[in-house]
Amino acid sequence: MYAALITGKETVELVEFPDPTPPDAGVVVDIAFCGICGTDIHAYQSGTPYRPSICGHEWSGTVSATGKAVRSLTEGDRVVVAASPACGRCSACEAGLADRCEAAFLSAIGSDPLAPPHGGFAPRIAVAESRVVKTDSGLTDEQAAQVEPATVAFHAVRQSYLRLGDTAVIQGAGPIGLGTMQWVRAAGAGRVIVIEPNAERRALALALGATDVVEPGDEASTLIKESTHGLGADIVYECVGRAWAIQTAVDLARRGGSICLIGVPDTDATISPAVWLVKEIRMTAALAYFHEEFDMAMRMMADGRVLVEPLHTSTASLAGLGDAIADLAGGATQQAKVLVNPNWA
Ligand SMILES: [Zn+2]
Ligand SMILES: [Zn+2]
Repeated sequence: MYAALITGKETVELVEFPDPTPPDAGVVVDIAFCGICGTDIHAYQSGTPYRPSICGHEWSGTVSATGKAVRSLTEGDRVVVAASPACGRCSACEAGLADRCEAAFLSAIGSDPLAPPHGGFAPRIAVAESRVVKTDSGLTDEQAAQVEPATVAFHAVRQSYLRLGDTAVIQGAGPIGLGTMQWVRAAGAGRVIVIEPNAERRALALALGATDVVEPGDEASTLIKESTHGLGADIVYECVGRAWAIQTAVDLARRGGSICLIGVPDTDATISPAVWLVKEIRMTAALAYFHEEFDMAMRMMADGRVLVEPLHTSTASLAGLGDAIADLAGGATQQAKVLVNPNWA
């Protein structure tokens, strides 16, 4: 069996692995689709060593084999990749901080003891039973492949200071920004302004319910000022994932407002602390998700409050993964979410 791995700067290789077998407490999943994440794109661009287990970490599929200790799943169950529930045994759990469970966090970043030697850019994968949750019956496998990134955005919005009626700004309308925008609407924002340089993505944001879309720069600050009586946004979600965008988020927020960091820059950032202090900015940062959030997010995707299929703009084969990532990394891409179908020749 071949899995695609990012093995260096601008390098994607098909690497041969033995056909996976389930560990006692694990399952083998036949992968239906695996999405390309911004993290995959950053790894491809930077060439910094990339953990193989997360090279492709947005997948859906069907259980094809179970280990002998597995109780909650059987062959034929449709599943999505997720984070484990709290273990109840680690130092954080013992301290009553189950939502900070160390084992669950390691699973969310692909570093748990049963982490596979490759990610979801493969026809099959063996993972711990606790790493998957059953797919909501209202979702197709294609929709289900976007549950992981949708849950990243869901978690960020749950962790943020958003209040009913707020004017919220979303910086960046990539798949995470477009997901965040929809959760923010569902959570009761009064006005949702999306800042995005790419015209196709601005159009998609409008179609998915943004109140306003605007290009970055002076035009964006003017629009936000004008729509808030000169005050600035109540809350700004940073979904660009570049270092410069953190200070921009604070610049667009009102005094006493908040920002939420979701995009992951791979360099240090320069900020203007005086502006943060003068505005008394509150900040939340969000990485990954909690186990229980997958069911919550899937329910709201299945009932149509948050749509992911409009984000799915193309499908690639395993052999086409390198070209697909190169296009997404190029900046002028027409794509939003590209899914890989590892069963295509
Ligand atoms: Zn990701
Ligand atoms: Zn724990």
